[in-house]
Amino acid sequence: MSKKVPLYIDGEFVASKSEQWIPVTNPATQEVIAEAPCATQSEMEAAVASAREAFKTWKEVPVSERARVMMRYQALLKEHHDEIAEILAQETGKTFEDAKGDVWRGIEVVEHAANIPSLLMGETVENVARSIDSYSYTQPLGICAGITPFNFPAMIPLWMFPVAIAAGNTFILKPSEQDPLTPTRLVELFEQAGAPKGVLQVLHGGKDQVDFILDHPEIRALSFVGSVPVAEYIYRRGTENGKRVQAFAGAKNHCVIMPDANKQQVINNLVGSSVGAAGQRCMAISVAVFVGAAKEWIPEVAEAIAKVRPGAWNDENAAYGPVISPQAKERIEKVITEGEQEGAKLLVDGRNYTVEGLPNGNWVGPTVFSGVTPDMNLYKTEIFGPVLSISEVETLDDALEMVNNNPYGNGTSIFTASGAAARKYQHEVEVGQVGINIPIPVPLPFFSFTGWKRSFFGDLHAYGKQAVRFYTETKTVTARWFESDIEATGPNMSIHLK
Ligand code: NAD
Repeated sequence: MSKKVPLYIDGEFVASKSEQWIPVTNPATQEVIAEAPCATQSEMEAAVASAREAFKTWKEVPVSERARVMMRYQALLKEHHDEIAEILAQETGKTFEDAKGDVWRGIEVVEHAANIPSLLMGETVENVARSIDSYSYTQPLGICAGITPFNFPAMIPLWMFPVAIAAGNTFILKPSEQDPLTPTRLVELFEQAGAPKGVLQVLHGGKDQVDFILDHPEIRALSFVGSVPVAEYIYRRGTENGKRVQAFAGAKNHCVIMPDANKQQVINNLVGSSVGAAGQRCMAISVAVFVGAAKEWIPEVAEAIAKVRPGAWNDENAAYGPVISPQAKERIEKVITEGEQEGAKLLVDGRNYTVEGLPNGNWVGPTVFSGVTPDMNLYKTEIFGPVLSISEVETLDDALEMVNNNPYGNGTSIFTASGAAARKYQHEVEVGQVGINIPIPVPLPFFSFTGWKRSFFGDLHAYGKQAVRFYTETKTVTARWFESDIEATGPNMSIHLK
């Protein structure tokens, strides 16, 4: 019998009383490795009640003590790093190396959250008026929530709850139903780090559980990461209900290749950033734009990508794993078929791919198209598979026009030896995260994850200073102390501070 994933409510891992369970499968075999419950109404209410109660005391815990929980947590995550990566690899299909990267990028956020005392500091000005001082505090909001996608089951939950909780909030996490085992392990370690009962709750499920979070009046802020249609829905319904919402969504990331770039670097970086992780990264390069004479390198890029072999998570020679589900495989293969029909040139075809010994895996082989134009569905859709589309343009201005006309704005990169070209691209491109000779420019946690346009709905971004602002309210105090021997003046009838 497969393992039943517990909920985490009021400091206890509890077996759900739900009658609805979602199978969690190993994408390389289809074996059901666990079942996740769709939390019931009373379980969800219990989570909110516990979060409400815990907030009353947690917000009064000194900030340095809250920081120490994060310090212990990051130490525990490091100690259990490989073990978490193994759980993660089995439920996502990621290779062990890639799974370790997922865990590591999450640990970095916890390290940052351990700096919470300085991140929460307000501002002060003395003598804003005669004998009057002003200073501000950042205070927690209350109960916050997070809804996460399948593709980074360690990193993305860790973008959210450590920062929110270190800031003094309590938090309800609803992880992806496709890989709930990794978040469960993260939560066990959080408890072990000394997080008090009730500061974190975990509810599993799908749309109904998300709707509960969206509609609950006590949940003040909601962080979401996932696909565009769901992000739009979450942002609309959450903000209509008066919540603070940040919703990170899909992408179409372009890499612009200038003819003066280092050819071998271009080839190596395009291979890893396009088909790595089976293309299931929101910052994956899905479009390579070759400028001018750089187009001569296209056959060599295709040849290098054709050599990449997917395989099981524990196969050391595998470059990437299966895609998450049979539905994802079917969707990706359909886009490839349509791409051919639309007139793009299929240089490497990853359809009907098999891996020896694993006939039931959701395999999609590396795929490369050239001659891709912006009117094609292949170009417009977020494929979220190991598929690279190649376009050719004459000038850097043409490349900029193409990238800026794309509705998404998560990430982009330029490969060049010219500082002037890189500076122009960095300045003029309408995308929130730019790499210069770096294909996947995911900022470290002391910056923020700053997607633009249809890749992000909201104002304040994930992690870094922006996340601390997202999870807090600013209170500004204007104070005057009367010396007892000062004679009281008459009433001040204006708002002018004198
Ligand atoms: P998804 O939108 O299908 O699911 C994300 C979460 O929303 C899950 O927890 C799921 O249970 C919930 N959900 C799904 N359908 C829902 C509905 N109709 N109503 C309410 N909730 C619903 O996304 P996914 O397939 O798990 O993840 C892949 C997507 O996430 C890609 O589009 C990828 O680009 C995006 N992503 C974006 C970022 C970013 O930072 N911009 C990072 C990672 C992933």
